[in-house]
This record gives sequence, C-alpha cells and structure tokens, in this order.
Amino acid sequence: MLDSAHAMIITASKRLGIKDSELESLIKPDYEHTADIEVDGQKYKAYRTQHNNSRGPYKGGVRFHPEVDYSEVQALATLMSLKTAVVDIPFGGGKGGVVIDPKYKSKQHLEAVARGYVQQFHEHIGPDKDIPAPDVNTDSQIIDWMVDEYSIVNGDKTRASFTGKSIANGGSAGREEATGRGGVIVLREILKSMNLDPRKLTIAVQGLGNVGFYFAKIVHEELGVRISAVSNSRKSLFSESGFDLSELKFSREVMDELSGQADFEKLAEEILYIEADILVCAALSDAINENNVSEVKAKIILELANGPVSHRAHQTLVKQDKIVIPDIVANAGGVIVSYYEWLQNLNNEKWSIQKIRKMLDDKLTKTTADLIAYSNKNKISYKQASYEIALSTLHRFR
Ligand code: NAD
Repeated sequence: MLDSAHAMIITASKRLGIKDSELESLIKPDYEHTADIEVDGQKYKAYRTQHNNSRGPYKGGVRFHPEVDYSEVQALATLMSLKTAVVDIPFGGGKGGVVIDPKYKSKQHLEAVARGYVQQFHEHIGPDKDIPAPDVNTDSQIIDWMVDEYSIVNGDKTRASFTGKSIANGGSAGREEATGRGGVIVLREILKSMNLDPRKLTIAVQGLGNVGFYFAKIVHEELGVRISAVSNSRKSLFSESGFDLSELKFSREVMDELSGQADFEKLAEEILYIEADILVCAALSDAINENNVSEVKAKIILELANGPVSHRAHQTLVKQDKIVIPDIVANAGGVIVSYYEWLQNLNNEKWSIQKIRKMLDDKLTKTTADLIAYSNKNKISYKQASYEIALSTLHRFR
C-alpha cells in the first residue's frame, strides 16, 4: 500500500512540477512514534505516525490487527493527509495501530490495551495536535475508553481529542454510517455524470463490515441499486434478485442473517470476479492486485477501503477503460463527519442527523464535481486527479 501511494504521489508531483527536494517533505512523515503496551504479561507493539499537519491537527484512526506494521501505518497516515486535503477540511494526516488480534481477547483485556495506547502516546495527542478515531477492529467503545484515559492523564474535558465516540459520550449523530453514506454520495454523482440509471445496475460489496454494511443498505434504499453479492472474510453470498438489508441493523453476524436470502455461497475472494456493474472494495488493502486484476469483470470499482486497488492493478484497469473511484474521495465521509464531531465538542453543541447528512452531502457532491471536472480537463483517471488536487493543496501549505 505504501509503494502504491508513493508511486501515485511521484506521478502526480511530476505533472504538477513539484521539485524532488520539495517532494520529500510531502512523502516523509513528520513523526513516527512506537511503543510497547504491556497487559497481563503480554506485549503489543503500538504505532502512531504523524504524517503532515500543515493544514491542521493530525487526524486518523487506530487499527487493532495482527498484521499492523510500520509500513502500513505510514501508508494509511499518508492517505489521510491526501484525503483531508482533497475534501478540504482543516486537518492533516496521521494513523495508529496495535499489533493484536482482538478476536481472541476479553473485553477487559482490550480496555487495558486501549488505555495503554493513550498512556504511551498522550503527549502527542490533543484537540489541536492529533485526533485519533476508530478504524479496523476498533469502535466507539474502544474510543470511549481512550477518551476517558486521556481525560485522566491530561485533564482534558472537551472530548475533542478523539472522534468516533459513542453518542452518549460526545459522539456525533451520523458518524457510524458516514463512510458508507459518503461512498453512496460519491457513486451517485459519478453515475449521474455518466448518465447511468442506478436502478438498472447491479453491485457487489466485498467486506460487509461497518463501512460496507452502511454503504450497501443506503445504496439500495436511496439509489435503488440491486445488490447481487456481499462478502466477509469467511464467504461470499450471491443473489440474482438482490439482497434486501432494509430490516437489518449492523452487527458482526449480519452475513449469517443474509444467508437465507442467498441463491448460493462461494469462497470469500470469489466476489471480486462476479459479473456485476459495480464492484465495491470495502475490506482490505491490495484486494485487487497485479495477480488477480485480469479476472475482474466489473466496469466500475469503488474503493471504499483504504488502498484496495494496487498501483499496478490500477494502471491495468485504466488501460481497460474501467472506472476506479478513488479511496481518498470515496471513503472520506468518515473523516468529514469526524470533523463535524470535533466542531460540536469544541463548541459544546449537538447537531441533528438531518443537518449532518445535508452537510456531508453538500461537501461530497462538490468534491466529486471538482474531481470529475479536473479529470475531464486533464484527461487523466479519477485516481490520478484526486492525488493531483490533494498534492497541489498540500504543496501550497508546505
Ligand atoms: P470492519 O472491521 O468493520 O469491516 C471489515 C470487513 O471486511 C469485515 O466484514 C471483514 O469480515 C471483511 N473482510 C476481511 N477480510 C476479508 C476478505 N479477505 N474478503 C472479504 N471480506 C473481508 O472495518 P471497516 O471499519 O468497515 O473498514 C473497512 C475498510 O474501510 C478499511 O480498509 C478501513 O481502513 C477503511 N475505512 C474505514 C473508515 C471507517 O469510518 N470505519 C473510514 C475510511 C476508511
């Protein structure tokens, strides 16, 4: 993922005329903090990378996953700097992670790890320094523990040092659905520009987690797209008539609840090769790579995860005239509503879900229109365009 991000940055900066000497400061993170968190005699490596704060405090999630490493955290922090720049919110980019498999840990153990993370990195965190949030395998409960620990250690009562909190603890209405909803808004605007009627299209969603679930639910309910396949890490489910998620609430068991609606089941990765109009990658980085890109049949690929299409695979898809809707725009809904949460905390306000949805819609509709216009004007892919818009903004601030 880091190699792909750097390759895109280098290509974009060449076209923008950014000098090599200036490029280094756009690529290299400002700070990389590491620590060991010790809980019940077990040690976990933990990271917080602060990539760029030229436009505002560092911003980015904390991931709990056994495969977290230094390079992944750096890549994700870099993408955050680009994302906050392309959607024009006054934050920079950061990211964190803990090398842990939370599936096999008790609630008490995870609470101790979350609190340990704050004890290790609290000096670098704060409402105007660095604002962590949830990411893969971390949720509002983990963030609530982190906020509580931060207020114990630092005495901060604004709760603006973290976003993605539970509503009762200062979280924002609409944060949970925000990344999925944002993806729907961006897709809607791209389809409109292509004169495509969403009600005549089929869609496959890889990764029915937090992001994929809300995306699937909203794209079906609000755009009328038929969901012909869904997957998680264990399996893919297929349905000719389409899945209906309208009665479902998000949970880790949602795929099992959908089993009854499926015509058949296959291995998890099979979803990538389905004959659907749109393929949504909402699970992992590098899901589409040079080894499997030739098998992808969908004409439109929406990157809802971070970095799900590798740089090489993207080049192949572009040559095949396929449309890749880039992650830094497609999944920016989460950080945009995090920004609204931060503003509400700092001003001691509570905004309605209607207000949040309207603001998010306006923001991403404009961002997508700018992306389409830039891409058409310069005759480059949406991904290339998103990097160029982001980098030229970051470069102006450096
Ligand atoms: P999550 O942990 O809730 O969901 C991930 C889903 O992917 C799970 O359903 C899991 O079973 C599935 N999955 C894992 N491996 C798979 C595989 N091999 N094949 C198919 N499915 C697989 O995480 P999330 O919060 O939904 O995040 C998903 C992606 O979106 C990540 O890349 C994350 O960085 C990115 N993202 C999340 C947010 C956010 O607000 N949560 C914001 C921006 C980007």
